[in-house]
Amino acid sequence: MLEIKGLGHRYADGHRALTGIDLGVERGELVCLVGPSGCGKSTLLRCVAGLLRPTEGTVTLDGNTVDRVPDGLAVVFQDYTRSLFPWLTVRDNVALVLRRRGLGRRERRAAAEEALAAVGLADAVRKYPWQLSGGMQQRAAIARALAYRPSLLLMDEPFGSVDAQTREDLEDLLLTVRGGEGGMTILLVTHDIDESVYVGDRVVVLTGAPGTVHTELRVDLPAP
Ligand code: ADP
Ligand code: ADP
Repeated sequence: MLEIKGLGHRYADGHRALTGIDLGVERGELVCLVGPSGCGKSTLLRCVAGLLRPTEGTVTLDGNTVDRVPDGLAVVFQDYTRSLFPWLTVRDNVALVLRRRGLGRRERRAAAEEALAAVGLADAVRKYPWQLSGGMQQRAAIARALAYRPSLLLMDEPFGSVDAQTREDLEDLLLTVRGGEGGMTILLVTHDIDESVYVGDRVVVLTGAPGTVHTELRVDLPAP
């Protein structure tokens, strides 16, 4: 489904963030991307999201070159403080994106409440983002991404701000949504090796100091 070939990126200031990345992801797969801080994980995700134009190589999605934000894509960023609209309740933040799915008002609200309940926010649906803790805001952002039922979900260290128990619950939630009928494909950036081995069908390790050639190491996990 996702094909990355010879991907490299050099930022406008000359900084080389990524070199020679080849990676293919099958539909319904959950691939974890790990590696030290600054090795280019976020840069790679931005190239796949169509938010950054790679300076070398190609990213294709179902055979089409990614040159803008693809349809059916959802992204969960690490920085939850900029992800929710502050003037909308948590429920309306989630319901808003469902407009693009062509759902009616009542269906949007029901789907939003269901997604929020799935991340443990059933009691917070009428609250505004600023009334929630950081971890709860991040869970709302995750609920919004999942409610959209994307064909490709990109997550950049999505659990950094949530407590350990909630993190485990969210990891289990990811395992239930990946693959399945909708065939949701997930690319998850994490610095937590344990997490990557637990949720990943496959773990891809990016190594190398920034500005040098990166080596990709693949770890194919045995079926549990
Ligand atoms: P990671 O997500 O693995 O921590 P990033 O993709 O954020 O790595 O960054 C890779 C390298 O590119 C880092 O050295 C970072 O400082 C640099 N970098 C990231 N964004 C920019 C930018 N907008 N301009 C210049 N350099 C950047
Ligand atoms: P991450 O936690 O994903 O590694 P960072 O904290 O490195 O992200 O970067 C946060 C933001 O700062 C990103 O949007 C990134 O593009 C930008 N950034 C990082 N390094 C640089 C840099 N050297 N020059 C310009 N912008 C940068």
